[in-house]
Amino acid sequence: MSNANVLDEVFDKFFSNAGIFKDREVLRHDYLPERLPHREEQIRRIGEVVAPVLKGARCSNIFIYGKTGTGKTAVTKYVLMRLEVKARELGSLVGFCYVNCRLAGTEYRVLANLCSSLNLSVPFTGLSVGELFERFKKSLDSSKRIMIIALDEVDALVKIRGDVLLYELTRINETLSHSRVSLIGISNDLRLKEYLDPRVFSSLSEEEIVFRPYDAGELKTILAERARQAFREGALSDGALSLCAALAAAEHGDARRALDLLRVAGEVAERKGAMVVTEEHVREAEKLIEHNRVVEAIANLTLHSKLVMLSVFHLVKANGYKTTTGEIYDVYTELCGELGITPLTQRRVSTLVNELDALGLINAQIINMGRYGRTKKIRLEVTRTLIKEAFSGDSRLGQLIEYEPRCLSQNKGKS
Ligand code: ADP
Ligand code: MG
Repeated sequence: MSNANVLDEVFDKFFSNAGIFKDREVLRHDYLPERLPHREEQIRRIGEVVAPVLKGARCSNIFIYGKTGTGKTAVTKYVLMRLEVKARELGSLVGFCYVNCRLAGTEYRVLANLCSSLNLSVPFTGLSVGELFERFKKSLDSSKRIMIIALDEVDALVKIRGDVLLYELTRINETLSHSRVSLIGISNDLRLKEYLDPRVFSSLSEEEIVFRPYDAGELKTILAERARQAFREGALSDGALSLCAALAAAEHGDARRALDLLRVAGEVAERKGAMVVTEEHVREAEKLIEHNRVVEAIANLTLHSKLVMLSVFHLVKANGYKTTTGEIYDVYTELCGELGITPLTQRRVSTLVNELDALGLINAQIINMGRYGRTKKIRLEVTRTLIKEAFSGDSRLGQLIEYEPRCLSQNKGKS
């Protein structure tokens, strides 16, 4: 078949298909649904905490935590949106700023976001973080209002950049005369507390709200509402819907995961020219999503992070389940030697380990060893097969997959 004929067939199949989707936009992560079932309690509690700002009083800081896909972002945005409407109606002087710290990436960019919510323009570079903070503070104070700052995925910022900005923000009211700040910190990582100065944590968590994972039944109602808008009538089998809910519930009750499964299963069905999304399409979607997630995440790592990832790979392969930062550093320096590059310091590598943890490629758990201090136990969060696949396309690092680190075979001899 000629190229043109192949394409004709693809396009015809796509077009003639009455269509699996009616509106696939509603399956996007950032789509804010009008109803958020099973989160009535959290919506009410956040609402009660923030309500005082309508009367011009500062409200308590709120620390919200729960695993990914438990509705933290959706619920927070929903409440703040309603609050903003109400504040306007009542003429209350309330400012709002929502920043996703993971996407912002640096303290500078988080602050730049805060400034732009006050219509304060900020140069891309050229100012120090301290100077930027001062400008923000000055402008905020002269605006004479209560400012609610929501720092979403704040764990990603803290793990990589430390808690300096949070520290300054939790103390900002001491230096303001006419304005007040209330913070909403949102974390996907339940262990964020371990990364924060105790004073920062206690100030941030004047109120604590937990988002527990959804169970399969809850996910099913959430999905069913979205599916009604997203899919053409009859294009989604009940079996497929239940399976998406069950798979996401088995993972950790992640609604985002469930929505992804639903969307990708729909796309798989569409490509196959099927009229109805079936369980088989969901199974295929599951494999596709995990594969793409890992391969993309690894491809985007810097060279040194890739080497750290490879070191964990080798250690887990040689020793089984868990490993430590010290062991990782030994293998890592050996791999650097193989490539003829200078290794980073152990401290820096420890930061890279935290970054890989934030990406969900490894899991680093801090273990308290009493008077021997603290150490981290690290394990892989993805299968070794997937890591192999991710590195197979890399001409330089691909060969390090089969490499057998000397420091590991020596250890084996000893024990
Ligand atoms: P988190 O911020 O906790 O990671 P999100 O708020 O981003 O989770 O939710 C993930 C996805 O699931 C979003 O698309 C969101 O709209 C949807 N979602 C989460 N909880 C609900 C709910 N109770 N009802 C409807 N959609 C929900
Ligand atoms: Mg979120």
